[in-house]
Amino acid sequence: MTVTLFTSGTVWTGTDDGATTALLVIDGVVAETGLGALARAAAIDEVRGPGAVERVDLEGGFLAPSFGDGHAHPIFGGLEAEGPAITGCSSVAEIVEAVRRFAAEHPQLPAIVGASYDASLAPDGLFDARWLDEAVPDRPVVLRANDYHTMWVNSRALELAGVDASTPEPELGSIPRRDDGSPLGTLREWGATDLVAGVIPDHPVEARVRALTRAGRYFLERGVTWVQDAWVEPADVDAYLEAVAADALPVRTNLAFYADPRRLHEQLPEFVAARARVVAARSPLLSARTVKFFADGVIEGGTGALLEPYCATLHDHGLSVWGAERLAEAVQAVDAAGFQVHIHAIGDRAVREALDAIEHAARVNGARDRRPVIAHAQLVDPVDLARFAPLGVIPVMQPLWAQLDASMTELTMPRLGPERSAQQYRLRTLLQSGARLAFGSDWPVSSGDPREGIAVAATRQTPEGDPAEGWMPDEILPVELALAAYSAGVAHQAFADGEGGWGGIRPGASADLVWFASDPRRVPARELPSVTIRQTYLAGIPRLPVTAAPADGDLRAPDDDASPAR
Ligand SMILES: [Zn+2]
Repeated sequence: MTVTLFTSGTVWTGTDDGATTALLVIDGVVAETGLGALARAAAIDEVRGPGAVERVDLEGGFLAPSFGDGHAHPIFGGLEAEGPAITGCSSVAEIVEAVRRFAAEHPQLPAIVGASYDASLAPDGLFDARWLDEAVPDRPVVLRANDYHTMWVNSRALELAGVDASTPEPELGSIPRRDDGSPLGTLREWGATDLVAGVIPDHPVEARVRALTRAGRYFLERGVTWVQDAWVEPADVDAYLEAVAADALPVRTNLAFYADPRRLHEQLPEFVAARARVVAARSPLLSARTVKFFADGVIEGGTGALLEPYCATLHDHGLSVWGAERLAEAVQAVDAAGFQVHIHAIGDRAVREALDAIEHAARVNGARDRRPVIAHAQLVDPVDLARFAPLGVIPVMQPLWAQLDASMTELTMPRLGPERSAQQYRLRTLLQSGARLAFGSDWPVSSGDPREGIAVAATRQTPEGDPAEGWMPDEILPVELALAAYSAGVAHQAFADGEGGWGGIRPGASADLVWFASDPRRVPARELPSVTIRQTYLAGIPRLPVTAAPADGDLRAPDDDASPAR
């Protein structure tokens, strides 16, 4: 029996008023809090002798339920360190140089695959294949942008994929071209990127396992112990199962299989089979209960689906990936197979289509505990705000994005105009409507550090403090509620808020905890990102410091201001 007593700090149980001063954990499970914890520890000491109870002095710090990340991409993030170091490069020349160096150091690689470059480094995000040809003329180079929906490739990659002037515009994608019709080197959305991705060797499963380990450590260092992988392909399931078997998956993870609008009917039996393999592995860390849909693109790129046209256009409503009717059918089919749905919906039209689809699935398939997710929910029509709670839809939102950064003021606001711009990221309104708000980061699209997101949720300010009164100040959340959206809210999304779950310090819950050096409620919210995390516990076991993996790359969070898209 392992017994740990935490004292001499604040133990915040995860609800508004739930603060106490002591916590007793037995075999990784919360046993008691407060005076009861002290009394029981003393009794155990008496029976089993001194030393039976390990004591952790919180040194005036703050112990809270650890975080979950309701929407992230651990494999993408972890794989960035496997290729050329282009994350954080601040010019095209720097990227090309990094690619050149990496290619020279890896002469045996048949292709140079990397991520993720800052798409705002070239006007309109248009990158030329010739710039890469200069560094690597003979092998294909394939780089993903930091939105992960865009690729920049060299001429050899285009040639191998057979993409040339005669290639028609793909369904669900676009190929920017030169005046003579030949492809420029930038490919947008899957319809286009798949053309090249299909002829490039995938990262081998060992690389994906390394990526998962690296990503898991990144999360542990930020107090995160559960992650929703919001885009899983079949090959990734092998990597997850191998990681679990090798004890190389550092955090709890739920998989969401990516639903391709062009072939969901073939995919659904594959998802069912993959889910069965994960269940058979019987790991407490891994589940696969979710299917991910994209209802639209992003507003910054003009592909977020809007009810009213984009500003300065007459008819452009953005991109409805499935269309309302097909989305409803698809969601119903996936729901009937017992999956939780996780729908990327950014524009108000996409959010409405997603809500309609979920409503349709519930009506056709009948009542059950389905916990559907709408991820991002950036722009919600006022009429639809009240629909989340009665449908049980969990808005999984990215608080870090709710700030007036360059991407918001230069790309989003001009496209939406003032009225719609002032309707974005209505965190508090959704919470007050009774919806179960959960938070996620979308790492590596933006920083995976919950402290940064919570700071924005609690201030609606940039790191520089703009604007002074906060952007849309009615939507500011108290720090406790922001912490709860990142813990209890995500636990609800993960079906983990019941017996034996996590996301709250309550008897019977797993001791998934984060220990801050000081009370995040007592520091100015903008300074929250600098509050030190002293320890992260998963099932009662301290996981920090994480030891560096061999050939571990430096995982940098991209510059948030530079992210043009999600
Ligand atoms: Zn995402």
